[in-house]
Order: sequence, then structure tokens, then C-alpha cells
Amino acid sequence: MTLIPVAGPSITQLEIDYVADAAAHSWGDNANTYYERFHAAFSEYVGVRHAVSLPSCTSGLHLSLAALGIGPGDEVIVPDVTWIASVAPVRYVGATPVFCDIDPDTWCLSVDSFRECITERTKAVVPVEIYGSMPNWDALLRVAREHGISVVEDAAEAFGSQYGGKMAGSFGETGCFSFHGSKTVTTGEGGMLVTDDSDLFDRILFLRDHGRVPGDVSFVNAEVAFKYKMSAMQAAMGLAQVERAQELVKKKRTVFGWYRDRLEGVDGIFLNTEPEGVLNSYWMSTVILDPGFGLDKFDVIRELKARGIATRPFFSPLSSLPAFAASEQAKRASGRNIIGYRISRYGINLPSGLQLQETDVRRVCNALKEILGGTPWK
Ligand SMILES: *Cc1c(COP(=O)(O)O)cnc(C)c1O
Repeated sequence: MTLIPVAGPSITQLEIDYVADAAAHSWGDNANTYYERFHAAFSEYVGVRHAVSLPSCTSGLHLSLAALGIGPGDEVIVPDVTWIASVAPVRYVGATPVFCDIDPDTWCLSVDSFRECITERTKAVVPVEIYGSMPNWDALLRVAREHGISVVEDAAEAFGSQYGGKMAGSFGETGCFSFHGSKTVTTGEGGMLVTDDSDLFDRILFLRDHGRVPGDVSFVNAEVAFKYKMSAMQAAMGLAQVERAQELVKKKRTVFGWYRDRLEGVDGIFLNTEPEGVLNSYWMSTVILDPGFGLDKFDVIRELKARGIATRPFFSPLSSLPAFAASEQAKRASGRNIIGYRISRYGINLPSGLQLQETDVRRVCNALKEILGGTPWK
């Protein structure tokens, strides 16, 4: 029995050719060619003015907070249910993370909870487009503007998603993407920061290269900062992936469609949503199971693994993790974030890789049905 992986990229001859070309030629006078092409193609796709490639999305979030001047004494609101990378940079700059609840349908930050978490110390919010889903951006941006709060968008999982015809990554003061091997667009490891704000972008370019302006070779650094770059070989791979963006997003939506055909409307199973005006790029096809089955996510994951199917748990609330649990903010959040605590316990990310075939999805759905009790579906 072959293992069905939970994720995986689509790599064609185009990626291989570009990477080989970069390895052979992207040096000296030619060192910047693939970066420039990648940045231009990416910013055009997202519909923003500026883009800069980075070693990770985590570094993009870190640079965003640092460039916005956020530091000790400031509070940054983050949804409680997300990957730890959304919040770790808040700690890197010495600020305090505040964990707000999530919305029961989109699984993104709840705007009501966001509003309730605002204090006079709140400087930024990090909305996360979880599994490709979009938050209620209209309401979210209205609240942020009313209170003068900066928006740092974590679009790591939402490459290609849209809200009201605008692309994921274009809503915040900055938008940050991940090109980790599991993501829709990959460079092995890597990330991208996008923004329309030219002053902020200049500050980010300065901070990401040890406190010097691009091209400076004086070695007279003005500040202690960071070194956040990817290689030209990675940029070459990223360029090929972005040139295939439509195809990659379409495949993600096809995979979700295969699951939806078999699981939608089944009692006790809830899938990713796509509200009116949203295009969900379904980085992960996800199910939330009714607690009535008497199985939590770790039980189901174990059973699926025994059947040769790799899955991942829905993120657990950050405020429940050993990394944060002792903090005052985590204690408050664990009592407050009822939706996040309820949903995250019963959520599973099903295999969603770009190589997946419909026969794989059928096998996953039949295994799930067997585990939950009953006969196989069509
Ligand atoms: C993958 C991911 C990140 C981090 O990306 P890296 O490139 O690994 O730093 C951040 N936020 C979310 C929501 C992610 O899924």
C-alpha cells in the first residue's frame, strides 16, 4: 500500500531549467536577474507595487513588525488558531501577543473578538488566511482603521485566494507569503513580502540587509539589523512556479472539489467554506468532525495513518501550547476563545498535495467513512 502524502509540490521541466540556468549563470553582473523577474512577476500577480523575496514567511512577518517600529510594551493581536510562525515574530521584537478567537465558518480571525481585544497598547493585528480561507476583510479593515492599528497580513497559506476580486496578500500594510515545500507555490524554503507603501518598503529593504540600502558597498552600516535573503536558485524556482500560478491554484481547487463531491452534506462533517465574493485557493482540504463521533483529531489521524494516509491536525490554539501557556495573555485567551478551542479539537487536514489524483481522494474518503462508521461512499 503506497502512502498518500499530506502535501507536495508540482515541479516541471520549467522549474528545473530555470534553477539549472541560475546555478550556471546567476553570478556577478547577472546575479540579480532572477530576483528581479521573480519580484516583478509576483507583485503583478498579487496586484501590489513592491515585492521582495526572503528566506521564509516568518522573516517577512518579523521585518514587517520591525519596520513598523513595534516593540516592547506594544500589543499585537493574532488569531489563537494558526501556525506558531504567525506569532513568534511578535516575540522577536519584544511585543506582547494577544490571542483573539476565530470565526466558526472561515476559521480566520473573528472581527468581534479582534475588537474586544483592542487596548490603548494595540499597535498591530496579524490576520491569517488559514488554509486558503479569507477573513471578513471589509469589517476587519474598518476596525483597524478606526483604532489606528497596522495590519500585517499572513498570507502564507492563501496564495491565489481572492476577496472581492482582490488577491490575498494585498490587504495589509504588508502581506507575507511562504514558499515552504508544503505550500501552493514553493522554492523549497522561502518567502515573499509585498506592500504598496514605498517608504515602508525602503525601510524593509534596509532592515533585511544588515542596515544598508540596496547596492551599498561602503560597509558603513547605519544600524544593527537582519540578513534575510533567498538564493538566486530559489528565486529561479519561484519564478517558474509563479508563471504556473493559475495552473497550481486550479489544481488545489480541483482537489477540494473531489472531496466536496464525496463529503459535502454528510452528517457531522464540515468542510472549508467559500463565502460569496471569496475565491478560496484551498491550500489544505480540511474536515471538522462532529464531537458526536467520539473521536478527536489525533484519534482520526492515527486511524488514517494505519490505512496509509498522511494527514495533519488542525492547528491547536496557540494559547494552549507549552510555548505560551504560562503567559498572562494565554490564560485569558484559553477562557475566552470558545470557538477556536471547539473547532481545533476536531479538525483534520486531508491529503492536499499537487500530485494528488481522484483515486487517492476516493481512498481517503472511504477510509474516513470506515473510521467514522458505515459503508464506503461512491
Ligand atoms: C507556513 C506558514 C508560515 C511560515 O512560513 P515559513 O516560510 O515556514 O516561515 C507562517 N504562517 C502560516 C499561517 C503558515 O502556514
